Amino acid sequence: MSDKPEKFIDENGLRLDGRRVDEIRPMTVEMGVLSRADGSCYLEWGNNKVLAAVYGPRELHPRRLQRPSEALVRYRYNMAAFSVEDRIRPGPSRRSTEISKVSGEAFEPVVMKQFYPGAVIDVFAEVLQADAGTRTAAINAATLALVDAGIPMKGLVASCAVGKVDGQLVLDLNKPEDNYGDADLPIAMTEDGEITLLQMDGNLTADEIAKGIEMARKGCEQIFAIQKEALLSKFGTTDEEELLKE
Ligand code: UDP
Repeated sequence: MSDKPEKFIDENGLRLDGRRVDEIRPMTVEMGVLSRADGSCYLEWGNNKVLAAVYGPRELHPRRLQRPSEALVRYRYNMAAFSVEDRIRPGPSRRSTEISKVSGEAFEPVVMKQFYPGAVIDVFAEVLQADAGTRTAAINAATLALVDAGIPMKGLVASCAVGKVDGQLVLDLNKPEDNYGDADLPIAMTEDGEITLLQMDGNLTADEIAKGIEMARKGCEQIFAIQKEALLSKFGTTDEEELLKE
């Protein structure tokens, strides 16, 4: 791992990767990349590379796990062994189990599970290359994979992190900022601005958290725009009723 940089923000207000404090890394998305999944999305965000696949709705087995009045949404976040500098041991870890749980919950208000009692919707988020912000990248890809699978949703979910370096809040942490910064605040929200995921590492004051949330909101607005552009180019519309006719 590289050493801690002396300064994260230069005299012109630019970060080590040339971004301003409120700028997200470049993001590209491609939907429908897996022919065997019902929906999929490949997303690159800075040096992060993430693949999301959605299967379902399909009947849940064993049947005792079925919910009589709604579908069960299962979300699995996984980092490939080769995705980081030091190889990751394959299989679930404490970290991936936690990220899977909270990321699945980030979709709670939007996925219309009531339409599929007894069914399961499986979301797999595979991190192929990690460079800080993988849980947020995975959520952004999973949203589009869910739409690609034709799952009825009340809207999209977007996610990005805010952190603190050199005493300043910064949007969408890169790797050195994540490793050596003072705080990491990953956030996910719906298009209505309802916060569906909020975690925090490090220390921030109440005022910094409030400002950080506003910064994340601006980041998520940019991500919603990227997601909608992808929907427009694939389906020719972002209207939910039109999408469900596909
Ligand atoms: N990371 C790693 N090994 C691990 C977990 C994380 O090298 O076992 C790296 C990876 O680049 C990841 C970053 O540390 O993106 C930050 O990890 P964190 O747990 O904060 O989650 P993330 O920011 O990726 O959601």
